[in-house]
Amino acid sequence: MLTQNPHTSGEVGSFYNRHTDVYDQALGGNIHVGYWDDEADDSPMRAATDRLTDLVTERVAPAEGHHLLDVGCGHGSTAMRIVAHHAVRVTGVSVSDYQVKVANDRPQPSGLLGQATFRLADAMELPFPDESFDGAYAIESLMHMKDKMAALGHVARVLRPGGRLVIAEHHLEGELDGPDAARMGDAYAFFKISLTTDRYGELLREAGLKVVDHTDITENVRRSYDSMVDAWREAARRESEGEKAREMERAADLGGWIFGVTPQLRYGLFTAVRP
Ligand code: SAH
Repeated sequence: MLTQNPHTSGEVGSFYNRHTDVYDQALGGNIHVGYWDDEADDSPMRAATDRLTDLVTERVAPAEGHHLLDVGCGHGSTAMRIVAHHAVRVTGVSVSDYQVKVANDRPQPSGLLGQATFRLADAMELPFPDESFDGAYAIESLMHMKDKMAALGHVARVLRPGGRLVIAEHHLEGELDGPDAARMGDAYAFFKISLTTDRYGELLREAGLKVVDHTDITENVRRSYDSMVDAWREAARRESEGEKAREMERAADLGGWIFGVTPQLRYGLFTAVRP
């Protein structure tokens, strides 16, 4: 599964140049899933997606003066939340020039404890010196990278000893076969992703990092997908242009299936440390 439909970083970047705004609307200003404690938790989307940011941040364990790397930073919402609450610097990289522009254009209010900067760069070839970051996180970005080992190797290289990497990501548990495998191939091609059947433990170890935690939060994030599907259908209705409307319908059909009902699809938080 891992090597099917490899996408270039340029293709991923242009996907996000076109789709960032729909994700933003569906997910309350973030481009990642929300987290709910349980059925009774009625937090709105914004609060739930911020909660995921906070769960990741806690695991990175930032201390005053730290410099963190945001691997696949989206349009900067995650990094901005972190620098609003912690006295740290964050550098974010994305392969979408639209996202980098939106991120760098965000006003950084004077009350922020830290600061965030964003640049167009590929995580599989990180342009930073060895041991230049105190911590790193990758939220829903590795799924887009055709060479996950290259990216993890680079992150391990730029982390200082003792620095942590936290991954929030989808992965598969178990193989799909028959029509499900074919449909997954369609979803990979559409969303420019390839999921690993590894739970990231093996890959992190191979990159020289020590895994200290894996928490499966699939059931806590599941509610996000309905909202995404609704947003895609809504976007399809708004589009006057036939082709764009069909693209949004396809996103809703494939996304509703892969992220909503495929039992093999899991979402995990992985914490590793550079020895
Ligand atoms: N982490 C952000 C955005 C998630 S969307 C958030 O939680 O809001 C996926 C992000 O991964 C996009 O910003 C995309 O540009 C980035 N990405 C995908 N492949 C990448 C690569 N090879 N190098 C750097 N960023 C990448």
